[in-house]
Amino acid sequence: MTDDLQEARNDMVLKQLLHRGIRNPRVLDAMRKVPRERFLPPSQRDRAYADQALPVDCQQTISQPYIVALMTEAMELDGEQRVLEVGTGTGYQTAILAELAREVVTIERHAALSEQAARVLNELGYRNIEARVGDGTLGCPERAPFDAVMVTAAASRCPPALFEQLREGGVLVIPLGGRDVQTLEAVCKVGGAPESESLSACRFVPLIGEQGWH
Ligand code: SAM
Repeated sequence: MTDDLQEARNDMVLKQLLHRGIRNPRVLDAMRKVPRERFLPPSQRDRAYADQALPVDCQQTISQPYIVALMTEAMELDGEQRVLEVGTGTGYQTAILAELAREVVTIERHAALSEQAARVLNELGYRNIEARVGDGTLGCPERAPFDAVMVTAAASRCPPALFEQLREGGVLVIPLGGRDVQTLEAVCKVGGAPESESLSACRFVPLIGEQGWH
């Protein structure tokens, strides 16, 4: 069983990530290592390595593996960074970040999702994650600045509080656009101003909060 799941992960990395241009070896290793099935509700576990987003509790989704890898690669993590993640969801992306960064602060607006994610992350042995419940559009000023920020829900504009909490030279990855379709953007802070690069078209659930959708 364990070997089958490792084989499924290896296959996912080869067919979904390498074939689509994900190249960072540390990102590929993390995607080969983290057991995605552990973060899914029982009804979705047999689709853990499918090339698609999946429904999870609280009417939310877990992103497609390729989008997880693409967003992570854009952050260029080398093990030293302190990262803010907005939208913990199942905690799968959090685990990938925790493999690659020194420390991850993750915020989720649904307490039930946050608690479940924290339980699985703890069971898997992650000790460099702080899981918080609240409105992530406001970030976490008391832990700022962050070397990198990832927002895993869609906004019409980059929440100013999150850009403010990004250190100079850091990168913030966020899906920007309408409620239904967005573009994944990597926004660098250069001389205090945003410089954006578009990564891919995407579809995320809305970022709901004071500096997001209402
Ligand atoms: N990366 C997650 C994973 O691996 O499972 C999937 C994240 S899901 C696409 C987006 C998450 O953002 C949802 O769990 C949603 O509840 C959360 N969210 C939306 N608005 C938020 C906000 N203002 N603060 C924190 N979390 C928020």
